[in-house]
Amino acid sequence: MPEIAYVNGRFCPIDEAVISINDRGFQFADSVYEVVAAYEGAPFRLQAHLDRLRRSLSLIDMEIDERRIDFAGIIREGIARAGFARTLAYLQVTRGVQARSHLHSADLAPTVVATFRPKPEVDPAARAAGISVVTVCDTRRVECEIKATALLANVLALNRARRKGYDDAIFVSPAGEIREGTASNVFVVRHGMLMTPVCDASILHGVTRQFVLECARRIEHPVRETRLTVADLQSADEAFFSSTTQDILAVTRVNRKPIGSGGVGPVTERLCETFLEGLGQPLEQ
Ligand code: PLP
Repeated sequence: MPEIAYVNGRFCPIDEAVISINDRGFQFADSVYEVVAAYEGAPFRLQAHLDRLRRSLSLIDMEIDERRIDFAGIIREGIARAGFARTLAYLQVTRGVQARSHLHSADLAPTVVATFRPKPEVDPAARAAGISVVTVCDTRRVECEIKATALLANVLALNRARRKGYDDAIFVSPAGEIREGTASNVFVVRHGMLMTPVCDASILHGVTRQFVLECARRIEHPVRETRLTVADLQSADEAFFSSTTQDILAVTRVNRKPIGSGGVGPVTERLCETFLEGLGQPLEQ
């Protein structure tokens, strides 16, 4: 099956997709995006992703005429054309093409691009043992709820973490509050309570985060959205990341110290099972 792309109204093989170097997405990261997973051709929580896309667009002062650009239709058609068992659909909307200028024209036509690739499996070793993270100071801009393509801080944090032997990094505010991973939301289990940072402008409002909260309620596990510190993470019984690409992934070491037993904990395992049942997916072995 070929990996395919969509550029402004046309589907094509991914290697043939091109945009102008004058695109504001390329010049300024003046653009927002969504990543949607599809299982057996069915996009998961498409409505929630589209709602967040509209909110991101509105927060960057972009108005899109959805009678002319049908985001749901692009995503559904791309998934159907690609035909993978599990697809990762990436949709990006930029402010459009213009000779480089910080000031944007009022009449730009947005650039809409998408790619449709097989959804990679999470590394089985990471699934089985969990991953290690390092806490890093959050140097990002404040509007992290916008799903913006300006991800330089995330890219640097992940790559620096890897160079130091960690699997990922967790952004922490100057006051020591945990925010999120470089591409995921964070959950902590402590004294029988599942906790995750409050959804405010300092984190992305994860679609998977929301689904995990629903799964926890389904199995009647107590949950709290609250402020969490590095000390809370270090003294937690369990921790995990949530994201569209990795579902639920246990975090078993922070700053080189084990979290709880240092293995994937029972609440994480139970939530993983409930989560995968909710996706309508067989449990991974
Ligand atoms: N936080 C950040 C910074 C992300 O980049 C992502 C996903 O890419 C998430 C959280 C998780 O969001 P979602 O569950 O909607 O994939």
